[in-house]
Amino acid sequence: MTSPVVIIGTGLAGYNLAREFRKLDSETPLLLITADDGRSYSKPMLSTGFAKHKDADGLCMAEPGAMAEQLNAQIRTHTRISGIDPGHKRLWIGEEAVEYRDLVLAWGAQSVQVPIQGDAGERVFPINDLEDYARFRAAAAGKQRVLILGAGLIGCEFANDMCLGGYQCEVVAPCEQVMPTLLPPVAAAAVQAGLEALGVRFHLGPVLTRLQQAGAALEAHLSDGQVLSCDLVVSAIGLRPRTDLAAAAGLQVNRGVVVDRQLRTSHAHIFALGDCAEVEGINLLYVMPLMACARALAQTLCGKPTAVSYGPMPVTVKTPACPLVVSPPPHGVEGTWQVQGSGADLKVLCHGADGQLLGYALTGAAVLEKLALNRQLPALMA
Ligand SMILES: Cc1cc2nc3c(=O)[nH]c(=O)nc-3n(C[C@H](O)[C@H](O)[C@H](O)COP(=O)(O)OP(=O)(O)OC[C@H]3O[C@@H](n4cnc5c(N)ncnc54)[C@H](O)[C@@H]3O)c2cc1C
Repeated sequence: MTSPVVIIGTGLAGYNLAREFRKLDSETPLLLITADDGRSYSKPMLSTGFAKHKDADGLCMAEPGAMAEQLNAQIRTHTRISGIDPGHKRLWIGEEAVEYRDLVLAWGAQSVQVPIQGDAGERVFPINDLEDYARFRAAAAGKQRVLILGAGLIGCEFANDMCLGGYQCEVVAPCEQVMPTLLPPVAAAAVQAGLEALGVRFHLGPVLTRLQQAGAALEAHLSDGQVLSCDLVVSAIGLRPRTDLAAAAGLQVNRGVVVDRQLRTSHAHIFALGDCAEVEGINLLYVMPLMACARALAQTLCGKPTAVSYGPMPVTVKTPACPLVVSPPPHGVEGTWQVQGSGADLKVLCHGADGQLLGYALTGAAVLEKLALNRQLPALMA
């Protein structure tokens, strides 16, 4: 029997690749293996669930059985792969060996965890998949005050969403502004002001050093001496592409699993896409790039080697308290920022020395200009 194409992961990368593959090939056996429950959902919706009154079941788009039927695939859920043996084209699930024709790593990125002193570590919730979200929703029922660690894109989205869902939110982060790696300071200030107007309180600078039970509540001790009272803590301090199993199998890894533009790792029959993949030095943890990768990789897996191209990749940040669209300049490229507008409505543009638009941040009413600006942006990977 022909060995299957095996995809590890049933997030947006794994399921979208399977869909694109099936458009081109309805016959080749396809096996998806996932450590989670295999439900299909859109991860970006995790940070709009409170405002929309959607629990984990409400965000689930399809059960794994329905996905298996739709994709004419076998799906193994709650199954964690533990090793890869590229030389023999097989992978390991504990003692069990599974052979593959081609293997695709779509195993995502994991939440960065920092050790926190004190006796309340179990009240800290990372939210990086539907199961995390279900656990957090259950813990948050009947509670009021949420402390969010991290003021990046995801921390700010959760703060906005949970405020709209009726929670009091405080954000603690060791940075001078929100979204420091994404936004110029003036745009960050506009977003912070919008969130503050909604009721979010920011503590930028300190870190959480200790979390203690205090009756039914928690005491959060910050490195600047402040002590905040809260009911539970969300950790949104970052994501790290999963690379350990790839490195152990001898594949080249850097920040992510290193792949070329055909999404091929340093081994001919192993590919990667999504949050775990570093495509020609670029590791983007967003949906648009993984969709482009899924389309290209499906072609390659069907015998038509295809390089992925990235156009401009603007990100719409889900902070309705201050609408925000950002397209950061390519990493390592120098430009000059110019600010137009005032208050919440800012158009902040980054130009190169030759006048080429390299990136932008639009807030408030200025977000309406994104389509026109996107047309002027250079492709990220032509
Ligand atoms: C709250 C939140 C909001 C977001 N909002 C946006 C947004 O608005 N716009 C945007 O573009 N992007 C957004 N993102 C990012 C976007 O959702 C991700 O880039 C994308 O969903 C990643 O998909 P993935 O399939 O690569 O990874 P994941 O969805 O993480 O899937 C990884 C899969 O691999 C499985 N797995 C891991 N290890 C193993 C193993 N050893 N064995 C078997 N299976 C394994 C997991 O169980 C899972 O099925 C957001 C992310 C978060 C967390």
